[in-house]
Amino acid sequence: MNKKIITIDGWSACGKSTLAKQLANKLGYVYIDSGAMYRAITLFFLRNSIDLSNTVEVSAALKNINIDFRFNPDAKHADIYLNDENIETLIRDLSVAEKVSAIAAIEAVRTFAVAQQQKMGVNKGIVMDGRDIGTTVFPTAEIKLFMTADSDIRVERRLKELRPKNPQITREEVKKNLETRDHLDSTREISPLRKAEDAIVLDNSHLSMEEQLAFALRLV
Ligand code: C5P
Repeated sequence: MNKKIITIDGWSACGKSTLAKQLANKLGYVYIDSGAMYRAITLFFLRNSIDLSNTVEVSAALKNINIDFRFNPDAKHADIYLNDENIETLIRDLSVAEKVSAIAAIEAVRTFAVAQQQKMGVNKGIVMDGRDIGTTVFPTAEIKLFMTADSDIRVERRLKELRPKNPQITREEVKKNLETRDHLDSTREISPLRKAEDAIVLDNSHLSMEEQLAFALRLV
């Protein structure tokens, strides 16, 4: 079967990466978490106290960032590395989540990330999830999904994910972070989150993991 590019965009915490991993495993494709790349850049900017309003400083910082993905056989997917450091767990922290949307709105940051994402897709056989993958990164992708889910369900899912690492985290903090990010991501000037015209909507509020995979496989 000819290898395809599958894009999965949608709101925060609606299960994009879960479905992307399921599809990649089933089809023998590479899975790339584009959000992890923006989170990696954010972690670097936070660690180095980069002034976001200073375009020269931002561009210089980007030159010192090397991001790659390396397969983790235990997790059965690739972990993200920032300058040779495995930061897969660190980037899920709320401190990163609170800053990532502002940093992802910066033009130089998007140019940097999108160029790398497009390179990863040259051989096809890739599932990439994010916010602008079907609209900007791979506008001619063969299969495009746009995922959504009820906001309360999304908050519960993210809370369940974050609690084991951070037992103090509250439902309000998670809800506020998702709302703020969705607002910033869908209203920014460059490549805002929106459904590509040819994307198929998948609302997984009441679907099991098996059901959502079956839905996506039917499209493939
Ligand atoms: O997917 P995830 O929630 O980890 O993404 C974190 C943030 O990265 C998003 O809230 C958004 O600001 C940014 N992002 C983006 N474009 C993408 C993927 C993520 O702007 N393609």
